[in-house]
Amino acid sequence: MTETDICIIGAGPAGMMAAITAAAYSKKIVIFESNTTAGRKLLLTGRGRCNLTHTGKPDEIIRAFKPFDRFVRHSIYEYPPQKLLDFFHERGLDTVVEEDGCIFPATHSSTDVNNVLLTELKNKQVQIYYGRKTQNVTKQNNLFIIPTEKFTVSAKALIIATGGVSWPQTGSTGDGYKFASEFGHNITKPVAAIVPLIAAEKFCRDLAGLGLSNVTISCKIGDKKIIDRGPMIFTHSGIGGPAVFDLSRNIAGLIANNYKVFVDFVPNTNIDEIDRQLAELIAENPKKNIVQILSHFLPKALANVICSENQIPKIEAGQINKKIRKNLAEKLKNYPFNIVSAQDIERATVTRGGVDNSQIDTKTMQSKIQPGLFFAGEVMNVDGPCGGYNLQFAFSSGFLAGKSAAQRLE
Ligand SMILES: Cc1cc2nc3c(=O)[nH]c(=O)nc-3n(C[C@H](O)[C@H](O)[C@H](O)COP(=O)(O)OP(=O)(O)OC[C@H]3O[C@@H](n4cnc5c(N)ncnc54)[C@H](O)[C@@H]3O)c2cc1C
Repeated sequence: MTETDICIIGAGPAGMMAAITAAAYSKKIVIFESNTTAGRKLLLTGRGRCNLTHTGKPDEIIRAFKPFDRFVRHSIYEYPPQKLLDFFHERGLDTVVEEDGCIFPATHSSTDVNNVLLTELKNKQVQIYYGRKTQNVTKQNNLFIIPTEKFTVSAKALIIATGGVSWPQTGSTGDGYKFASEFGHNITKPVAAIVPLIAAEKFCRDLAGLGLSNVTISCKIGDKKIIDRGPMIFTHSGIGGPAVFDLSRNIAGLIANNYKVFVDFVPNTNIDEIDRQLAELIAENPKKNIVQILSHFLPKALANVICSENQIPKIEAGQINKKIRKNLAEKLKNYPFNIVSAQDIERATVTRGGVDNSQIDTKTMQSKIQPGLFFAGEVMNVDGPCGGYNLQFAFSSGFLAGKSAAQRLE
């Protein structure tokens, strides 16, 4: 039996940060990773560029995690974006802030992010066992027992950092849920978050690849109206892009049959102003086709589809009456999409659901049921919007779990 202070299952960003933090307390740390390399999902992030985190004061970051804002509050305060950036800057990796507030490594390479973490793990003499898929964990005499094919490890504290169930090919296959439930934890049903939505509107296929840089998208959940804003893209089966992804966090788990969402293609202009501008354009260009008039607000392909789908005759602008004009303005501001489902959880960027937050102490990331058991990252029922929030939470919760586990052993 190999004895260690802290055993961590999973070498993703959360597990690596937990190990680095705990090792600073001179603790003996072992990580088990089922893949033959660490951070396989991390390498895919931001299309290989790694959107590390987001600008903003801790309170703004916390608010973005709604409905999990209260749960993440302590970990984000403990380890806010600035501390994460300091960590990378001090180790020679600069970062850049893009216009939308997303922060990337200056080299635009997720490999560089992963390498900083791996170098730090090596410097801190953290032992990583690769290709070791933990199958089960038990607790005997206050020690966690983690058997592997070749040997068994006993640990005074255990951190589960196995991720969710999205992109299982990267190693996140939901094993952490099994370990947690064996220790008495409830698991909130995992559902897809940050996913494209599948729409009944067949014309999406014709527009696939067409991007819009700024829309608002809204839907009603009970009495509550959810609104998200940002870029959107048409896909072969519906709609995607950041605005849609953020909305999907709130509705992906709820979609049963049909869910109506409304897209405002011209969010910076109110409906009366659009009507006024349409009237002006029509008066100035009576011989132009209606699609050409609409192209003032929208890409031509979309303008074309909106007319065809809504039986708006493609007549000369001069023939457009007030009723048609009002109808057009309404379509630009409030275009309905019938969402039939979300894309599969396997293809979702993150998983909503997982280890029930109410059984985890937000101040330490320790289980309220099993002393010495900690959680870090996406294995818990937390997800944030697009923009670096999910990695920030992986790092913040990893930091807090690592620190708390090490301090518990002092
Ligand atoms: C394509 C894609 C792009 C993304 N881009 C961004 C982005 O730009 N910015 C952002 O903030 N977020 C992004 N995310 C989300 C982000 O990557 C995750 O939220 C984050 O990786 C979660 O970190 P984690 O350490 O909790 O889990 P993971 O990164 O999933 O790591 C879990 C680790 O545990 C290991 N493991 C699982 N079970 C076992 C077991 N039984 N035994 C041993 N090891 C095990 C896995 O192999 C894996 O290495 C993206 C996700 C995807 C899929």
